[in-house]
Order: sequence, then structure tokens, then C-alpha cells
Amino acid sequence: AKGAGRGQWRRYEATLHAAVLQRLELRAALDRAAADQDFTLEYQPIVEMASGRTVGFEALVRWRHPALGLVPPDEFIDIAEETGLIEAIGDFVLRQAVGAASQWSKQNGAQQDGTQKDRAQPYVSVNVSARQFRSPGFVTKVRQELADAGLPPSALMLEITERLLLRDDEQVWHDLTCLREHGVRIAIDDFGTGFSSLSYLRQVPIDVLKIDKSFTATVASSARQQAIVDGIVRLAQTLQLDAVAEGIETAADRDLLCDLNCPYGQGFLYSKPLRLDDAVEWLRFENDA
Ligand code: C2E
Ligand code: CA
Ligand code: CA
Ligand code: CA
Repeated sequence: AKGAGRGQWRRYEATLHAAVLQRLELRAALDRAAADQDFTLEYQPIVEMASGRTVGFEALVRWRHPALGLVPPDEFIDIAEETGLIEAIGDFVLRQAVGAASQWSKQNGAQQDGTQKDRAQPYVSVNVSARQFRSPGFVTKVRQELADAGLPPSALMLEITERLLLRDDEQVWHDLTCLREHGVRIAIDDFGTGFSSLSYLRQVPIDVLKIDKSFTATVASSARQQAIVDGIVRLAQTLQLDAVAEGIETAADRDLLCDLNCPYGQGFLYSKPLRLDDAVEWLRFENDA
């Protein structure tokens, strides 16, 4: 038994070393990637569920690693946040995303037949980590990017997490208010998974609640899950916030969320995250329909 235990430890130690090594390597590689801007964005449609119309896209970053291929953000955002690289990555993401929105806006303004269709400009929704939001000059940067692109602030939504609101931080509060007064919309991402002290909702300056996909994924499975989602949607309504359900994978998910009066949804049922040229195609197809 003792021998087996030691064997187990060795195995454990080996995996531990591998994990630490991997993390160090990842960190070094990420350093290089940030310098070379080896990142790309994908855009996932956000849909008004009742009409099926695309109202915006969430920008999702991918790291183009020479050997590993496209590395998903869950595997590097935390490290980037720890090392501070998130600020450089975040700047890049913001600029690309605003550039994409300006492309959609031109596309929307000028139809192929030369006519103008009366459609709202699709917005781009950008994930902003706490460290990035707190970095000096963030608000100025956002306003500058919009001005440079000639975009109205309503073309941009920023997704923050409950973590940013956890501390009673006057600067964060002030910056959120500034951005909103400017016309940029603010969403709480992964709503309900965080530290969920609901007290911040009493007064925090936000516009949208994004219902985490862990709730959406199970909504069809039980009355309990439905009650939770129902509660979140009602809360949003009462506070005059728009609700967006993430992770809509099946028609059953969509129908249930529609029945619960959740107005907006996003997920594989509608589309996976798309490369920019495919997002442009997606809008063109919808505009022509
Ligand atoms: P998130 O903000 O909650 O983004 C939604 C995630 O769900 C995305 O994963 C998306 O690809 C995935 N997803 C979309 N539809 C479905 C569906 O129907 N089913 C399931 N199971 N998943 C779906 P992704 O792109 O891997 O991003 C993971 C997380 O990384 C994001 O979660 C976000 O927290 C973070 N992230 C992504 N891009 C950025 C960024 O530019 N900056 C920062 N700070 N974080 C980012
Ligand atoms: Ca998000
Ligand atoms: Ca989310
Ligand atoms: Ca998340």
C-alpha cells in the first residue's frame, strides 16, 4: 500500500511539474504574442429572440499560437491578468472590435441597391477584465477609439463582471458613470455566478444583464432551474435592464427563454463565434432577407 502511495505521489509530482512548467512556458509565449499582436477576434451574433434579428456581436479573443493553433481565452486570460499583459491585449481587442463595428455600420448604411434600410446599427460587445478597466486612462481610450472610428458610443457595449463591482471603488463607479453618460452601454457578464451580493444592483450604472450559460444550459431540465432564470429576467425587467441569455444551444432553450420573456439570446443555436468576414456575410444575408 505504501509503495502504491509513493507511486501516486510521484505521478502527482510529475503532473504538478508539468503544470508549472506549462504555465511558465505559456507565460513566456504570451509575452511574445502580446508584443507581436498574435491575437484575433471572433464575433458571436446576439439576437433578438422573438424576431430572430441580429442586434449586435460579442467580440471574443483568440490567441494564434504557432504550434498550438487557436488557444481559447479561458486558457490565457487569467495569466494575462496576473502579469498585466491584459492591458496590451485589451487595447488590441478594443481597437479591433471598434473597427469591426465601424465596418458593420458602413455595411448597414449603404445597401447594395443603394437604398437605406431603417435598421439600428449592430453593436459590438467587448469583454473588459477588472484590471483593464482599472488601468489609468481607460475611459479616455474608449472615447478616443470611438471618435477615431467615427462611431456613436451606442455602437459599443462593455461587458464587466461582478468582481469589478465587489469592492466599493469610487474610481470604478465614476468611470462607469462617465462611460454611460457618454452613451456606451455596460453589461454585467456571467450574471449570477459571481459573488452575487445583489446590493450593488441598487445603484450601479449598468444597462444589461447577461445570464450565464450555466443557467441557460439547464433551464429545460427542471422547474427549479426555470424559477431561477425567471427570477433573473424579472429582476432585469424591474430594474429596466435588458437581459441577454448566453449559451442558447437548442430550440427548446430558446422557446423556454422566450416564454420567460427574456428578450435577447446568444449561442450555438444561432451561430458559433464568426471570423470578421463571416460576420459581415451574416449581416449581408440578413439585410438582404
Ligand atoms: P464569456 O464572456 O462568458 O463568453 C461566452 C463564451 O461562451 C465564449 O467562449 C463562447 O464561445 C461560448 N459560447 C457561445 N455560445 C455557446 C453555446 O451555445 N454553448 C456553450 N457551451 N458555449 C458557448 P470563449 O470564446 O472560449 O471565451 C471564454 C471566456 O473568455 C469568455 O466568457 C470571457 O470571459 C473571456 N474572454 C473572451 N474574450 C475576451 C477578451 O477579449 N477580453 C477578456 N478580458 N476576456 C475575454
Ligand atoms: Ca462575455
Ligand atoms: Ca458570460
Ligand atoms: Ca465567462
